[in-house]
Amino acid sequence: MTQQIDGSQARRSGLNDYDKAVETYEPVLGLETHIELDTRTKMFCGCSTTFGAEPNTQTCPVCLALPGALPVANKAAIEATIKIGLALNCHIAEWTRFARKNYFYPDMPKNFQTSQYEEPLCENGYVDVVVDGKEYRVEIERVHLEEDTGKTLHVGGATGRIHGATESLVDYNRAGIPLVEIVTKPVPGTGALAPEVAKAYTAELRDIVRSLGVSDVRMEQGSLRCDVNLSLNLPGEEWGTRTETKNVNSLRSVERAVRYEVRRQSALLDAGERIFQETRHFQETTGETRAGRSKEEATDYRYFPEPDLAVMEPSREWVEELRATLPELPRKRRERLQAEWSLGDKEMQSVVNADAVDLIQATVDAGTTPSGAVKWWLGELSRRANESGEELAALAITPKQVAELQGMVDDGRLNDKLARQVIDGVLAGEGDPADVAAKRGLEVVSDTGALEVAVEEAIAANPAVADKIRGGTHAAAGVLIGAVMKATKGQADAGTVRKIILDKLS
Ligand SMILES: [Zn+2]
Repeated sequence: MTQQIDGSQARRSGLNDYDKAVETYEPVLGLETHIELDTRTKMFCGCSTTFGAEPNTQTCPVCLALPGALPVANKAAIEATIKIGLALNCHIAEWTRFARKNYFYPDMPKNFQTSQYEEPLCENGYVDVVVDGKEYRVEIERVHLEEDTGKTLHVGGATGRIHGATESLVDYNRAGIPLVEIVTKPVPGTGALAPEVAKAYTAELRDIVRSLGVSDVRMEQGSLRCDVNLSLNLPGEEWGTRTETKNVNSLRSVERAVRYEVRRQSALLDAGERIFQETRHFQETTGETRAGRSKEEATDYRYFPEPDLAVMEPSREWVEELRATLPELPRKRRERLQAEWSLGDKEMQSVVNADAVDLIQATVDAGTTPSGAVKWWLGELSRRANESGEELAALAITPKQVAELQGMVDDGRLNDKLARQVIDGVLAGEGDPADVAAKRGLEVVSDTGALEVAVEEAIAANPAVADKIRGGTHAAAGVLIGAVMKATKGQADAGTVRKIILDKLS
């Protein structure tokens, strides 16, 4: 059989066409998310957790694991984890304890991580997300509490990786910072939308945790880190072997990582090869995943109960007290905002998909109308973000600047076309919209004297059109308006020009 050109290219690079892959195979997703809590002190000692401090200045005998040092659990971290569990509709354990997860790594001073194993703090919850108008329930298997590791820095190589490095440095400031791990159950049934469901779940989880005020959940700073599990199977057959892609640090990357694994794994399966259960690493620049180590089984870690920490028995009263402190959660908030902003379901869904809820709210808070804010974030700015492959929030324009821009449009100082040129300037770092408009000379010509001259010239150049308007065919004014706009390089207000034309010709 003759392969099409794109098919054979895909074969050479080991990737299938995505649409073809999901016609043949059913993806099963799984997501493991680590969230750094922003408690004032570490999980098992009193060391500060401030980000960006000088290396190894926030350490003590406990988090450096000096002999005889004993841990004490951080109550604020336990409370935060229970709140996350409640917000994710989980059951909160009545009896739970910590466990040692044994592995050797230079950034792990104890040679084990204090984590939880068979008795997680929270279990059996769910998060509902809507993709393409359809609701998907992502079930949560467990939410547990553990500590973060230190950070290793490889010096002397070109890439910052261990290969080619001349030395490696360890910073233990991060060792012992409380970390919450949230593990989903396998998510079948998403079909071709697996990448979008993975992204929507991660965004919803991030928004839920942010609303609780227990972490700043910044993916780019690593306070929310995502591992994406994926397997493929033929319809009606058992689930396939999964891979786990690590270090996925943006919503867009979650989507890309799933898509890439579907294409890669399906090509291997088509060729009759098997999928290895392994850890893979996401490459931000290329969108590929690359093989890392083969995946350890839980038994490899030789978990055992942590003897130095007391078991936890959260009383039902305490759990209910914490439940009573839960704020308005994202889903409720979106319903409220949709009503306040007078948006239809589809439009609101677009806002959510573009991850623009907070941006639009901040723009409205800065003094513009909801429709004005929605127009820019979902229109021109989404287009720019797509073009540059950035997240919308990463664009170099603030909600306040968007509000100022729309304010200038409302005041008649800019029309939408000029406003788009102002956006060019703001994104290029030329300042706030008013500065850019002034520097680039982009404001609407409001000097009616200048507009009258331009209209006279347009009438003189188009006598037949002028006669039509005189005869009552006002629709013909469009031709003259176009001519004036051209003459003023788009800097006239079309409504004003139209009025002047009709005044002159009737
Ligand atoms: Zn410490």
